[in-house]
Amino acid sequence: MAPKWEWVDRFRREPRRSGIFLDFDGTISDIAPSPGGARLHPRAAEILPELARRFPMCVMSGRRAADVAALVGLPHVHYVGVHGMEWMEDEARLDPLVLPHLPTLERARRELAAAITGLPGVELEDKLASITVHFRQAPSEEDEALRLAEGLADALGLKARRGRMSVELRPPVDIDKGTVLIRLASGWKLRRALYAGDDLTDVDGFRGLRYLMKEGAFEGVAIAVLSPETPIELEAVADLAVEGPDGLLDLLSRL
Ligand SMILES: [Mg+2]
Repeated sequence: MAPKWEWVDRFRREPRRSGIFLDFDGTISDIAPSPGGARLHPRAAEILPELARRFPMCVMSGRRAADVAALVGLPHVHYVGVHGMEWMEDEARLDPLVLPHLPTLERARRELAAAITGLPGVELEDKLASITVHFRQAPSEEDEALRLAEGLADALGLKARRGRMSVELRPPVDIDKGTVLIRLASGWKLRRALYAGDDLTDVDGFRGLRYLMKEGAFEGVAIAVLSPETPIELEAVADLAVEGPDGLLDLLSRL
């Protein structure tokens, strides 16, 4: 692993070859009680515009690409949604690999909507390329919501993935935050990048960095953004850890 702070100088010296990849929820926003309540952290709104002018920047979220683009609302940022399956150009684009799975996702959506009527407080978030079942408002229904979602994923040939007080059903395609990071880093001819995130899907982003480091002269900095809900897997594979969005923004302000 690179010495703790030297990478900051290298980022500052060569910003156009140094990428900044950020998750949204819990990383540059505080976790909200429901997905609709999240807002860009006020300090992120101060710091990111200037960074986005100097560094290639991508915000990658499990949300829809248009949703995260609207929440961040900054120019010069590449917005990726649904863990890499969607991105913003002039409008939202869906990865072609996802298209054959849309009918199955539609069926899963109908069956889940019917099943959760018996689980008060459990919410569905329809993201076209995936469906997230949220139980933050109904923690006592966690086991039942997981059983439902994971059972249905098995039955329909979809993948189920657990997140912070949620589980997501997604198509069985090889797309994640890491594969997107690898593609963008090579398109942008990056020599180094940082990736910051707070949840299990961000381990994929870290894996993207590791892959590029193994391939050649590439410097990756994997940053775990800690909260009481941070999965131990994330901190275990990070290069460094910061306390919440505030800790991350302290660090980014050094750039
Ligand atoms: Mg997050």
